[in-house]
Amino acid sequence: MVKNNSALVVGAGISGSSIAYHLNKKGWDVTIVDQAKESSLSIYANPAVCVNPNVMISDQRFNRLMCSSISYVWKLINLIGLDESSALQVGSIHLFEHKEGIDRFTRLIKNNPGLKSFITLIDQNQIRENYNIKGCVGFYFNSGGWINPEDFCRTLVSETNIRKEFGSKVTEVECKEDVWHIKTNDKKEFKAKNIVFCSAGDIANYSYFSHLDFDQYRGQIDWVNSETMQELEILSNNGYVIPSVKKKTVVGSSYEKNNCSYEASDADTKSNLNKLNALLPSLNNNLLSRSNGSWVGQRAASFDRKPYVGRVLDMGGKSRLANKIDRSSLVWKKGLYINACYGSRGFSFAPLSSLSLANLMDQSLNSDDKFLLGYLNPERRFFRGMGLKKQGIEFKL
Ligand SMILES: Cc1cc2nc3c(=O)[nH]c(=O)nc-3n(C[C@H](O)[C@H](O)[C@H](O)COP(=O)(O)OP(=O)(O)OC[C@H]3O[C@@H](n4cnc5c(N)ncnc54)[C@H](O)[C@@H]3O)c2cc1C
Repeated sequence: MVKNNSALVVGAGISGSSIAYHLNKKGWDVTIVDQAKESSLSIYANPAVCVNPNVMISDQRFNRLMCSSISYVWKLINLIGLDESSALQVGSIHLFEHKEGIDRFTRLIKNNPGLKSFITLIDQNQIRENYNIKGCVGFYFNSGGWINPEDFCRTLVSETNIRKEFGSKVTEVECKEDVWHIKTNDKKEFKAKNIVFCSAGDIANYSYFSHLDFDQYRGQIDWVNSETMQELEILSNNGYVIPSVKKKTVVGSSYEKNNCSYEASDADTKSNLNKLNALLPSLNNNLLSRSNGSWVGQRAASFDRKPYVGRVLDMGGKSRLANKIDRSSLVWKKGLYINACYGSRGFSFAPLSSLSLANLMDQSLNSDDKFLLGYLNPERRFFRGMGLKKQGIEFKL
């Protein structure tokens, strides 16, 4: 007998680990499958990612999502007991050329007065004094920081009642009589009433998602050894620098559309070291001349750069639905969920989005979940085309 509150989670990066964690906390029966062995999961090899807030002058809903997501990241980190060697809220500073920065900041606060407690403007004298960078102001976010992906993801799925199947690639997916069945390349089979795809660009392999547009980008970060730097803020403008994580200063990142290579590139290293030089000119020249390591990853991003979180429509075998379709004929695909396309901000967004998704699956939605799932609804483009923009999650089926 397959339990109603059972789920297969495909992919064990931050989105898969987060949904597995939240469903398990609700008492669900969870199996998480990743094609990589636990020792070689791609994201585990990245020494640090930044939680680097990004706000929009004229998108209050995005800003609400960003602020609540980031607050939740640090709450969750605290809850699961990660210490300062695994994640640290050191703050982050986004640099702008002086005039542009003042203008942006004025408009930002005018349109979003609530952001006053989230961002502070640092004047150019202070930026010059602290970072030896001339002609720039900084937006300071005290909620910025860095996370070691391996420590975060591993801890999220560390509960013994989460069944972990690492080193098994999902090759077949089928739904028979409301039960989802998967087969893997090493001939394992699993079943559950629900399935959540958290496998980034791999969603392109399933017809259920063929109507969702997304792109894939290759990216590379580099790091230099940095024994002496302690607890400096994250700096960004064109690229970002995370000073001193486990004795490394991490700089990134390059990106290139539709390049599937995982090979490190000398040209990207050079470009990253130039970014380091521009953002931390006070670093010793010897450090700036040579990378001590690189990490290459792939990120999937949706058409509007916001993740896809929630249910998808049952396409009935079609790759597109006509815009003039009768609304009453639309149905969600039962037991199928997507939690993917986090672009360059998976560690900011995925934890809270996964909590809301778990609440949707568990039928315990609150108003914040409804807002988030409406905003990130995988079918938003189609609904917009049908004039259903405002309904989002309220869309009745
Ligand atoms: C160079 C670079 C720098 C970045 N810097 C940052 C940063 O500073 N901050 C930030 O928040 N984000 C950053 N990102 C983006 C971040 O890495 C992504 O947003 C995040 O990893 C997305 O998480 P995910 O769990 O959705 O996907 P992934 O981490 O890609 O995980 C998907 C998992 O699915 C598994 N999988 C795929 N297909 C199958 C299958 N068929 N069967 C079983 N398993 C499968 C994969 O093995 C993988 O482990 C960066 C990305 C790059 C490339």
